Amino acid sequence: MPGKQNQDTGGPPSGDGAAPPRRRCEVCKHPVQRCACSLLPRVENGTAVVIIQHAHERKSQSNTGSMLAWILRNSSLHLHGGPGVPLDLSVLRQADVDCAVLFPWSGAPVVSADALGRRPGRRQCLVVLDATWSQARKMAQRIPEVRRLPFLRLSDDAAPRYRLRKPLGPGLLGTGEAVALALELLGEAGAAAAVRVGLSIVARNVLMERGKLRRDGGAARSAR
Ligand SMILES: [Zn+2]
Repeated sequence: MPGKQNQDTGGPPSGDGAAPPRRRCEVCKHPVQRCACSLLPRVENGTAVVIIQHAHERKSQSNTGSMLAWILRNSSLHLHGGPGVPLDLSVLRQADVDCAVLFPWSGAPVVSADALGRRPGRRQCLVVLDATWSQARKMAQRIPEVRRLPFLRLSDDAAPRYRLRKPLGPGLLGTGEAVALALELLGEAGAAAAVRVGLSIVARNVLMERGKLRRDGGAARSAR
C-alpha cells in the first residue's frame, strides 16, 4: 500500500561491506525514492473486483494488479502459486454474489451489465487473472473456483492506451486496462477513470525505469 514499503529481498545481501538492499514500494515495486503511489486515487466501486495474481507478477514493475487492489476499495488480491501460500478463494463462493471471469475465451459474451447479471438482491463480482497470457490461460483452466464460473471478454476492437507490455492481439489488454474498460462497460465511469489515472502513473514510472523518459516528463535521448 502507498506509504507502506517493504524490503527488496532480491537485492544484494547486507553482510560486511555489502550495500543495503534498496527499499521498494510493495504496490509499484519501484525504489521508494521513485514511488508515486501517494498520488493514486481511491474510489468506491459497485461491482467487486477479485484479482488473482500469479506469484511471478508480484515483483514486476509493469504489474498493475496491486495498483488495482489499492485504487478500488471494493476489491481483493489473492496470490496464486506462491510457495507455502494457499490460495483462498472463498470470496467466490458467497451465496449472494454472482461472479464472472474476465478472460478472452472465444465465444464468451462481451462484458455488459446484462451479461454479468443483475439479479435483485444480489451483488456482482468480476474476477481478473493477473498474469502473463500463458499463465492466465492455465489459471483459467486449472483453478477449480475459477473454472466453474462464466467467462466474459472484451470486444476485439479494445485497444491498449498504455504500453506497459507488448500487445498480443485484438481485445487483449493488460490487467489494469482491461479492468478499467470493463468497469466503464458496467456503468462505473468514476472507478474506470480512477484506474486510468493509476495506469498513467505506472506507465510513467515504467518508462523512467527503462530510461525512456526524464523526470521532467521529456523523452530521454536513449528513447527508441
Ligand atoms: Zn509505489
